[in-house]
Amino acid sequence: MTDLVPTEDIERIVGVARHSIEHWGRAVSAEQTVYILHSKACLARGGDLCGCPYSEALDKGIEMARWNGYVDMAVPLWVSAGTGRLLPLMANPRVGTDEDGTLDDFLATDVQMIHFEALDDSQWYATVKLANGELWQLNFGAINTRARGYARAEQVS
Ligand SMILES: [Zn+2]
Repeated sequence: MTDLVPTEDIERIVGVARHSIEHWGRAVSAEQTVYILHSKACLARGGDLCGCPYSEALDKGIEMARWNGYVDMAVPLWVSAGTGRLLPLMANPRVGTDEDGTLDDFLATDVQMIHFEALDDSQWYATVKLANGELWQLNFGAINTRARGYARAEQVS
């Protein structure tokens, strides 16, 4: 459950100044605790900070695997639309999965190349090469790959 930390302490604990619109946080490994520094906009909204979506996400617990490499440091936060869990935003790419392990969200910045390729009527591959040379392959498709026309891909802009 979320506990409130005095305003005068939270910036020192997280280690950054309060941001105008971003929520920042710090997972403190020694305390097994995640601290949230709510944005100025969130504070300006008023009301109970425990009702903030970031606090509610934290109440669901964090997935430690997704925080590897991001503990004991100040990180901008986001809430996974798929799992509703609190995650560090610095991961590149940012990969979110649903509870069944399927891909919910993939956000990469600093990308060198993206290649989409249809394998058949119901499966697509996306190959993403990051600027650092790291390669990611994503597969999109219908549950039943034999159901022609079940999946669709189109250029929208
Ligand atoms: Zn907030």
